[in-house]
Amino acid sequence: MGPDWYCDDVIPGNVRVEVLGRTANTLAFRPPIPGFGTDHVIVIPTRHVSSLLDLDDELAVELLAAVKKAAAHVIELHGGCQVLTTLGDEQHNKHLHWHVAAGAGVARFVAR
Ligand SMILES: [Zn+2]
Repeated sequence: MGPDWYCDDVIPGNVRVEVLGRTANTLAFRPPIPGFGTDHVIVIPTRHVSSLLDLDDELAVELLAAVKKAAAHVIELHGGCQVLTTLGDEQHNKHLHWHVAAGAGVARFVAR
C-alpha cells in the first residue's frame, strides 16, 4: 500500500475492489482485506482531497450522501456500523477517506 493508495491504485483501477457505489466524484468500495471490523466499506472522493479539513462544501454534500448510502447498506447487513474519518497524525493515508465498518474490531466507547 503506497502513500496514497487511493490515487495510485484504487481510483485508476489497479487493484480489484468490490465497488458498492459510484457518483460523479465519489467511490464507495470494500477493500480486498477489511482494515478493521468484519465488514469495512471505504468512501472516497475520486479527485485528490487531503483530508476533511480541505474538503469544499459542494463535494462535502456529495461525499456525505455517499457515506450515508454506504452506512445504510452496512446497517441493513449488520444492524449497525461505525462511520469515521481520521486527521493529522491519526490519518495514515493523506487522501480523505471515510470508514464505514461493522463487527468485531471496530472502536468501542467505554463508559468510565
Ligand atoms: Zn489522493
